[in-house]
Amino acid sequence: MIIDLRSDTVTVPCERMKETMFSAKVGDDVFGEDETINQLEKLGAEMFGKEAAIYCPSGTMTNQIGIKINSSSPGEVICDETSHIYKYEGGGIGFNSGLSTKLLKGDRGRLTAEMIEAAINPDDIHTPETQLVSLENTCNKGGGSIYDINEVKKIRTLCYEKNLKLHLDGARIFNALVEANYNAKDIGQQFDSISICLSKGLGAPVGSLLLGSNQDIKKARRIRKLFGGGMRQAGFIAAAGIYALENNIERLKKDHIRAKNLEGALQGLPYVKNVLPVDTNIVVFEVVDSIDYKKIIEKLAAKNLKVVAFGPQQIRLVTHLNFTDDMLTEAITILKNI
Ligand SMILES: *Cc1c(COP(=O)(O)O)cnc(C)c1O
Repeated sequence: MIIDLRSDTVTVPCERMKETMFSAKVGDDVFGEDETINQLEKLGAEMFGKEAAIYCPSGTMTNQIGIKINSSSPGEVICDETSHIYKYEGGGIGFNSGLSTKLLKGDRGRLTAEMIEAAINPDDIHTPETQLVSLENTCNKGGGSIYDINEVKKIRTLCYEKNLKLHLDGARIFNALVEANYNAKDIGQQFDSISICLSKGLGAPVGSLLLGSNQDIKKARRIRKLFGGGMRQAGFIAAAGIYALENNIERLKKDHIRAKNLEGALQGLPYVKNVLPVDTNIVVFEVVDSIDYKKIIEKLAAKNLKVVAFGPQQIRLVTHLNFTDDMLTEAITILKNI
């Protein structure tokens, strides 16, 4: 048995998901004629109380389009120093949107209105104009940390006052929603644009949605074409996205319980220095200084448990819908016996 906890992107479609994919009604989406894509976009937009949505091949693309439609070069975006848009999107903020980036040190990736206010540039010809704030929920580098809705609301108010746009990288927003005391519509109200991933915890093979106003999504269609993301009969993969939204949200709680179990098993192991608090499906731990963490990764891999390096001495494990209770038992045995 191979247990792959490198990411929640490693899942493969179940039989029922595949059946809905094969029977999807499709058409040319660049002409707006793919019924399944249109249905998925409508479903995603309605869930969050937004006017419209656009289906894209990846979360990187939905984030990059979100940034581009909410800014004009030259300008500046404010985000956490560990955010995906900055660290893992190939320098796209500068390349695609011609913006500079102001990086803040949040609490496990989470910013506060106070920190953002202090980081807004003055109206001075020497400084780039602050135009946009981007938040991530849950925060990947923060070990799956969740935003408090009251802080998000404060940030929203600040952005109104300062005439800034607010984008959400919601690659794992559903992991937050099943745990927090707010729902999709509460989140929808706070942001100008929202990126959600169907291919992370929700288990679709491909695809993300960008949500926003009719006007913004119209702009996004132009940019998606320019980025090379206009797909044709992509309803076959969009069908998996619909299936994922309809069937795989509530079950994320199971992934969170299994992640908690892994956290408990890791605490107290001789090679573990500390474990970040586990709030959702991401478990991040630090290896003691005396052991090279790459050795730990190799030893786990030799026993068929796959994990990834996550920073200096840090290792990440992510639970997902192809990770069962039997695998959990086996994974804990492996972690205890290397
Ligand atoms: C995975 C991820 C994305 C999008 O990644 P793609 O692989 O391009 O779909 C964006 N933000 C976060 C926080 C992610 O974890």
